[in-house]
Amino acid sequence: MNVELLKGIGPKTSKILNKLDIYTIEDLVTYYPFRYDILKRTDMSKVMDGDKVILDGYLEEDAKLFRYGRNDRMTFRFFSSNNIYNVTIFNRGFLKSKLLVGTNITIMGKYDKKFNSIVASDLHFGLLPNKTEIVPIYHITPGITSKQLNEYVNMALPFVNYIDSYIPDYLEEKYNFDTKINAIKELHNPTSTNNFKLALSRLKFEELFVFMMKMTYLKNSRKAKDGLMRNVDYKEVEDFINNLPFTLTIDQLSSVKDIYNDLISQSRMNRLLQGDVGSGKTIISFIALYINYLSGYQGALMAPTEILANQHLINIQKIFKDYDIKVKLLTGKMKSSEKKKINEELKNGNIDILIGTHALFQDDIVYKNLGLVITDEQHRFGVNQRQSLKNKGITPDILYMSATPIPRTYALTIYGDMDVSSIKTMPSGRKKVITNLYKEENIKDVLEAMYKELLSGHQIYVVAPLIEESDKSDMENTSALEEKMNKAFGKKYTIGVLHGKMTSLEKDKVMEDFKNNKIQILVSTTVIEVGVDVKNATMIVIFDAYRFGLSALHQLRGRVGRNDLQSYCLLISDKESKRLEVLTKTSDGFVVAEEDFKLRGSGDLFGQRQSGDMNFKLANIKNDFNVLLKAKEEAEIYLKSDVDTNKIVKKMLIESTNLD
Ligand code: ADP
Ligand code: MG
Repeated sequence: MNVELLKGIGPKTSKILNKLDIYTIEDLVTYYPFRYDILKRTDMSKVMDGDKVILDGYLEEDAKLFRYGRNDRMTFRFFSSNNIYNVTIFNRGFLKSKLLVGTNITIMGKYDKKFNSIVASDLHFGLLPNKTEIVPIYHITPGITSKQLNEYVNMALPFVNYIDSYIPDYLEEKYNFDTKINAIKELHNPTSTNNFKLALSRLKFEELFVFMMKMTYLKNSRKAKDGLMRNVDYKEVEDFINNLPFTLTIDQLSSVKDIYNDLISQSRMNRLLQGDVGSGKTIISFIALYINYLSGYQGALMAPTEILANQHLINIQKIFKDYDIKVKLLTGKMKSSEKKKINEELKNGNIDILIGTHALFQDDIVYKNLGLVITDEQHRFGVNQRQSLKNKGITPDILYMSATPIPRTYALTIYGDMDVSSIKTMPSGRKKVITNLYKEENIKDVLEAMYKELLSGHQIYVVAPLIEESDKSDMENTSALEEKMNKAFGKKYTIGVLHGKMTSLEKDKVMEDFKNNKIQILVSTTVIEVGVDVKNATMIVIFDAYRFGLSALHQLRGRVGRNDLQSYCLLISDKESKRLEVLTKTSDGFVVAEEDFKLRGSGDLFGQRQSGDMNFKLANIKNDFNVLLKAKEEAEIYLKSDVDTNKIVKKMLIESTNLD
């Protein structure tokens, strides 16, 4: 039912409501307050200077009005609980005729202890009710107040007798949940703190239950679906592993086994390979591509940047040099004639493995028989790309690799539709990266430390302050820093620059020179953030470190410490040193992620996935994590049980499969 059909809501109001994405009365009643003001008389004995207070009482005198320009100010003496306060309120001049001596009012405002005065932000006529009143506050848009919105909701509520509940009856009983409509009513008009809490937890549980149902259902249905059953002997994989230039760690080996089992089984692989920076995920992806190749399918490895794609190409060619496997590179910036040629070869099956950026899955790219897709740094690969694969009508096995260390419980929940393999141990011989914090004014110490490192023949990354506005400032930014570095070290060492405005050819050249130690100091923006691997680089200096999230800094730090040399990370920041200290204390990506999670919420951590798949009205992954776990448990039980999946849940599940 359209909101306009409500008496009292005309076309004008309905237009305003539309702006809030409210079209139907169901939309209206599920437009929840985002916070509540608790209307309770402030206990003045506990109030500090500057606190917000709510007081009721009466005017000791008629209000005095002062006008200046378009604005006005009223003042009056106000009696409340045996005290008299001087009250000022702005731009309520239109109320003057009602603010007479003896009138009962309630004011909200800020208390100034010294002058025993209050600057009121709000004023109501009448005294406070004796019991605590909870006032819902909604996100609004010009033309409507929070109070009006609540009134509209209350006009709509009687017309909504029933609203689809996604919680099965037996769970409503188990948890003593009220009906959905009653819970909704309670949220808009809280009757008591306790009732409110119950209602809120019911509605949050429902959101998270729906989410976990989708995840679990996806996982189960994927399992049942026909995948590619490959016929590869593990002996062949073992031979390949034994030919590698190093011995795999135990976690690497068990990840390989997980992937092997997925690939030879009938169900489709949807696996997340998780491991801190430098833990050695790349080689696992090569092994997976090898298994896939042995079984006669094409494979694709997608990297988030061209630099990384290039690096993967070089590395895989090294690893595959004794094998007859055709590997090619495809990036967005290649000439269209080149792309055409690659596409031809791909269609004919003359390419076994294609490495590249997002270009790998553009509309015009056609594979002959794509069997495996691997994406490096999964957090950059959103639901959209998954969708585009599906649109191509291919459902290959998928392996995601991510260095964003998501705590296991979160991973199990957020990535609930995926299987997870984790690499926890680093290849042996690695030393902890020593991380230190510096203030701008101590830049001399930084330069000295850099010089020492250069003298011992090592290379250094310098990360320029992050500027978000435009690529131009990004460029200016790096060149300013380049100049600084040139002044300090230019006589003896070569300084290179990498920034977003460069062509991929230019970038490759610089990267190549850095790898070959023709460049000793590489000044860059965060284009080097993920994956780049230069073993002789043992120091990373990060300017304006406070601009980065802890996880991002941890990723950057992962650029160094890639062998048995002692490496260093120098963070320069005049701000937020307390937050940054976490990094000086731990090198465990999981601990860093936990801290980041605590400080900044999950938005950063889960990137696209969070914004796309997890739009909750009430629940919050971080704060309601325990509810989420409960919802996961119940969803799993429910899907396994014989309880008839009721119509609503079925409908929801069908809708949800669009996710995959
Ligand atoms: P990440 O997990 O961050 O992608 P990489 O795959 O780039 O890490 O590996 C980091 C470095 O460690 C690479 O130079 C790689 O060759 C090396 N490496 C990987 N596995 C091992 C191992 N088992 N023993 C020694 N070095 C390894
Ligand atoms: Mg990597």
